[in-house]
Amino acid sequence: MNEILPLVQKPGRYIGNEVGAIHKDHRDRIKFCLCFPDLYEIGMSNLGLQIIYHRINRHNDALCERAFCAAPDLEQLLIEHNIPLWSLETFTPLKDFDFLGFSVGYEIAYCGVLDILDLAKIPLSCSSRKEDDPIVITGGPAILNPEPLVDFIDVFFLGDGEEAADEIIAIARTNEYKTNNRRGRLRLLSSISGSYVPSFYKISPGSAGLKPMETGIAEVIKIRSVLPLKNEYYPALPIIPNIETVHDRLSIEIMRGCPRGCRFCQAGYQYRPRRERVIDDIIKQIDESLEHTGYEEISLLSLSTTDYSGLEKLLSRLNSSLNQNRTSIAIPSFRPGTISMNILNALNNGRKTGLTFAPEAGTQKLRDVINKDITEEEILSTSVTAFAHGWDNIKLYFMIGLPTETEEDIDGIINLIRKVEEAARQYGRRKKIGVTISPFVPKPMTPFQWERQIGLEEILSKYRMLQRGLKSKIIDLRFHHAESSIVEGVLSRSDRNIGNVLIAIHNSGLRLQAWSEYFDYERWLQAF
Ligand code: SF4
Repeated sequence: MNEILPLVQKPGRYIGNEVGAIHKDHRDRIKFCLCFPDLYEIGMSNLGLQIIYHRINRHNDALCERAFCAAPDLEQLLIEHNIPLWSLETFTPLKDFDFLGFSVGYEIAYCGVLDILDLAKIPLSCSSRKEDDPIVITGGPAILNPEPLVDFIDVFFLGDGEEAADEIIAIARTNEYKTNNRRGRLRLLSSISGSYVPSFYKISPGSAGLKPMETGIAEVIKIRSVLPLKNEYYPALPIIPNIETVHDRLSIEIMRGCPRGCRFCQAGYQYRPRRERVIDDIIKQIDESLEHTGYEEISLLSLSTTDYSGLEKLLSRLNSSLNQNRTSIAIPSFRPGTISMNILNALNNGRKTGLTFAPEAGTQKLRDVINKDITEEEILSTSVTAFAHGWDNIKLYFMIGLPTETEEDIDGIINLIRKVEEAARQYGRRKKIGVTISPFVPKPMTPFQWERQIGLEEILSKYRMLQRGLKSKIIDLRFHHAESSIVEGVLSRSDRNIGNVLIAIHNSGLRLQAWSEYFDYERWLQAF
């Protein structure tokens, strides 16, 4: 390893030893490795990974380490030198862990699961794994439809993982588990609520459903939801990354779930019900974490932060305690209509990095169809207030290809953005509007799961319409990668047959498909 790391572009991705990383002796402990199927800089921005890492490490008789995808330069060297992928904490080959736990946040990362398993020299297919291979577990938002990955994953856990992690450890420490064979161990793990062990189910002929093959296996798998959000879930000392990550700030979850019901939004359905943390708990965690980490920016995370009922109070308390430290507060996305002057004033004290709104559709008719209860008036009045209060940048997110969309709705996006532009121009030359347009991708377990996804030509033609209609010096118009949206749509609603496509992609040498520089649509089409 010492020989190959100096040869790679970013060795900091693979060496661990960060402030906050936990190192434990492997003897007599249940050994987990959390794997993130993308690069270190993406995975280390994932709050869920930090939560589960610390949750498992709280147990004296268990340990948890981390692994990420290897970038192509390291992968090549690992293969040349016949070195299996290692964990960051102790450089242990992943094959030597009892459990590998993948956190899959987006469908295109399915490929990363295969890449990590292969580099770790663990058989890709569950049925080829030996008794002493790790049990491969997966959770995360992109496995709400687990079927695309059933060939590769031994156990899925649906929903919140905090309590399930404790229950896995409780089972793994029993003699019954330790003395059982692999199938017996999987059977024991299948007793945990929210677990889905595909090898205990068969597709019943003539229907789309799965049936348990043994008595005592759950017929219906319920999504786990922890209630309440306990303070103990959140680490006071998160791991501070070695290298710059995509979100290089202190991430604090203040609420899980969302009170809205946008019909396209998988996260909104998956993380029900809405659960708010207590303000005192949030402040305590922030105080402790800032002291330990030295971060200068805090991001208050949730699916819809401005729907947190105590936001004004929280911001005002944070402002009075944080000012001396010059720490700024960021809120990922604002819901127009829920932002009071007090909230804007409270945020005024930090760096004004920009306000983000997601109207998603340009006309009221289409916003009603998708159940996005924001009016044009709310969007415009909130934009005016923000510009008037010194914000120079507003970011707007829209989707195209939503059910029932017509040309009028595309014109509606243009008209709405033009009105925000008009408002911006009244407040000086420095104002900018960032606009991101993404194709609608129907997601499983949402009311739109059976809706049509528009094809590539239609996406590109709508992109062109928007481009023509939104030429302006102050509008920065960006489009989500159209081809990768098509692939995402296929993967998210696939059944288990897509496993062969994932293997073909892996065998073709494609890696890191969430990165536009590595994404290869032609190769995906060939694999399909
Ligand atoms: S407000 Fe945002 S998080 Fe909530 S349901 Fe709508 S899109 Fe999803």
